[in-house]
Amino acid sequence: MNKDIATPHHTKTILDKFKFTFKKSLGQNFLVDQNILKKIVGVAGVTHDSGVIEIGPGIGALTEQLAKQAQKVVAFEIDQRLIPILNETLENYENVKVIHSDVLEADVHHVIKEEFENVQDLMVVANLPYYVTTPIIMKLLTEQLPIRGIVVMIQKEVAERMAAQPGTKDYGSLSIAVQYYAQPKTEVKVPKTVFVPQPNVDSSVISLTLRQTPPVEVIDEEFFFTLVRASFAQRRKTLLNNLQNNLFTKSEKPLIEKILDDVEIDGIRRGESLSIEEFARLSNALLSLRK
Ligand code: SAM
Repeated sequence: MNKDIATPHHTKTILDKFKFTFKKSLGQNFLVDQNILKKIVGVAGVTHDSGVIEIGPGIGALTEQLAKQAQKVVAFEIDQRLIPILNETLENYENVKVIHSDVLEADVHHVIKEEFENVQDLMVVANLPYYVTTPIIMKLLTEQLPIRGIVVMIQKEVAERMAAQPGTKDYGSLSIAVQYYAQPKTEVKVPKTVFVPQPNVDSSVISLTLRQTPPVEVIDEEFFFTLVRASFAQRRKTLLNNLQNNLFTKSEKPLIEKILDDVEIDGIRRGESLSIEEFARLSNALLSLRK
C-alpha cells in the first residue's frame, strides 16, 4: 500500500475490505487527519536515530507516520483482529514490529532490551485508548523505563488534570503523581472531527518529559502517594480532617496537629492548595507516626 492510511477515504477502504467493526470497549477511535499525525510526530521530536514504542496502532495511522521518521517502531496492539490488517497496511515499513499484547500485561523493559539495543533516544508515542489512559501512563512513568518521554493523545480533561497547578479545580492526586515523574505540557487541542468514529469527548496531545530525578526528596514514596490520595479524598474537607478520617485515627489528631505545625502547614487548608514540595515535607514528617 503506498497511499497514507489516515485519510477518511483510505481508512474506510481498509475497514470495508477487512469488514472491521469498532469495539468501543477497546477505545477504538482511529485518526484520519494527516496534520494531527504530523504534529504528534513533530512534538515527540522523533528523528532517524529515535526508537518509538507505540500503544494501540489500530490500522496503523500513526505507526506509518512514525515509521517514516524513526529508526524503529514497536507497537503493542491488544485486538487480534487488527494484526492481519496491520501486516498489510504496514507491509512496506520494515522498521515496524507489531506485538499482539495488552500493554498493561507486557514486560516493556524486556521488549526495550530486545528491540532497541542500540537506540539512544527512545520515546513512547500514542493515540491512547481513553478507557485505560491513566493506568497506561502510570505504568510507563513508574517502571523506570529508559525513555526520554511520552507524547500521547488523551481526553482533554485528563490532560488538564495531569498538567494542573496547585489551587486549581483540576489539581489532584493525578497531577502530583504525573509531575513527580515528568514535566507535562499540553501541546495541541484536538477536535473530535479528526477521528472515526468520533469520540464523545474532546482530546489533547500532551507531552510528558521524564525527569532524571524527582523534583522533591521523598523518604517513602508509597506513603507519600497514600498521603496525597488521602488529602484529596474529600475535596471540600480540610487537610486535617482528611488526614484524620482517611489515614490516621481520631486519637492521633493532636500529633498530626503538632507535625503540621512543625512543618508550617496550616491544617485548615485544603489538599488542593498544597504544592508537591509541601506534600513531600508533610509526608516525610508524618512518617514517624506511621512507624
Ligand atoms: N493509533 C490508532 C490511531 O491513532 O488511529 C488507533 C488508536 S485507538 C484510540 C486505540 C487503540 O488501542 C486501538 O487500536 C485498541 O485496540 C488499542 N488498545 C486498547 N487497549 C489496549 C491495551 N490495553 N493494550 C494495547 N492496545 C490497546
